[in-house]
Amino acid sequence: MIKDELRTPGAVRDAQRWTAHNYHPLPVVIASAEGAWLTDVDGRRYLDCLAGYSALNFGHRHPKLVDAAHAQLDRLTLTSRAFIHDQFADFCRELAQLCGKDLVLPMNTGAEAVETGIKVARKWGYQVKGVTPGQANIVVAEGNFHGRTTTIVSFSTDEEARADYGPYTPGFRVVPYGDLDALTAAIDGDTVAVLFEPIQGEQGVIVPPAGYLPGVRQVCTTRNVLLLADEIQSGLGRTGTTFACEHEDVVPDMYLLGKALGGGIVPVSAVAADAEVLGVLKPGEHGSTFGGNPLACAVGTEVVRLLATGEFQRRSAELGARLHGGLQALVGKGLLAVRGRGLWAGLDIDPALMTGREASERLMTRGVLAKDTHGSTIRLAPPLVITEEEIDYALAQLAAVLTE
Ligand SMILES: *Cc1c(COP(=O)(O)O)cnc(C)c1O
Repeated sequence: MIKDELRTPGAVRDAQRWTAHNYHPLPVVIASAEGAWLTDVDGRRYLDCLAGYSALNFGHRHPKLVDAAHAQLDRLTLTSRAFIHDQFADFCRELAQLCGKDLVLPMNTGAEAVETGIKVARKWGYQVKGVTPGQANIVVAEGNFHGRTTTIVSFSTDEEARADYGPYTPGFRVVPYGDLDALTAAIDGDTVAVLFEPIQGEQGVIVPPAGYLPGVRQVCTTRNVLLLADEIQSGLGRTGTTFACEHEDVVPDMYLLGKALGGGIVPVSAVAADAEVLGVLKPGEHGSTFGGNPLACAVGTEVVRLLATGEFQRRSAELGARLHGGLQALVGKGLLAVRGRGLWAGLDIDPALMTGREASERLMTRGVLAKDTHGSTIRLAPPLVITEEEIDYALAQLAAVLTE
């Protein structure tokens, strides 16, 4: 290889040539990573401020997670659920205990966890609550992001994600996020669940007004409706607590988990709920070939053990305060607003200055990788192993981008 020749442009072209264009990635080609840092094919280093949309909460290649994966690869990788394997019980028990729930149902992707939640809630509605046959409805929020399946995009309010995928699955009622009266009014005798994100990540890290979560909890309890918290992005340490619901002392009936549950190594998702809810499923009624496979369980168990120490939640809370302090200082200096909790922030860049895409590209040239979400909003979600110095570095690069 000719040393002076950059490999990046060719590698970017190759990557685009053979794939559907369902993403618009930044023009960077990553070759390796460790902790909070990525290295591209030309040896340039970048601070990861996206962390795989929070799938990499513990950083890239956390030694304990990589060790667990290696050890399991050498012993057993897949059995299907037709047989029981020796990693299954520990994972399910330790995750159930972390969630404070009776039972766990492991799946693979976040969307599958959400689909599982929807199916279980409907079955619970018919079999336990006694709703009108075929008429179960689920209340969801405007601006939601719960995944990409045909049923899930049926109740998306993002036209980009939804258009031309109909006919759409019926049985969902969309209400404004953060509006308790609207949510209460949408509930009727056939409502089986409220499905919501305690903080809306894709929408730009939208934190609902104080009191909203407890209000939703109370309405659900009074009206005998299941509260399904999609903590796929907000959970597992991201906001400074294990679950974002904890900030307002809310316990949902069902946690939907994914992303960081796989430690950035394998896709692992799960639903956690008590026996009177998850117990409605009988053999043959739901499943997944790869759900709860030995490799997923080995890594997932180690993830749960990392979280059980509380260290990552603490880091997120403490370092998050530093991140938010630094970001607040930029409001009025190129930033219009900052939202978020812990090591999770949504920044609205003054659209008169640049789009979110332009800001992401400029940050990239300064060694910081982040991604725009809607228009001029950027989301920052660095791995929870990031240090104070690295946060200051990211803030300095952002300040430079906003003023250059
Ligand atoms: C990413 C995400 C999903 C979907 O997860 P996939 O693994 O991409 O299917 C669902 N809900 C939320 C809140 C998410 O952030």
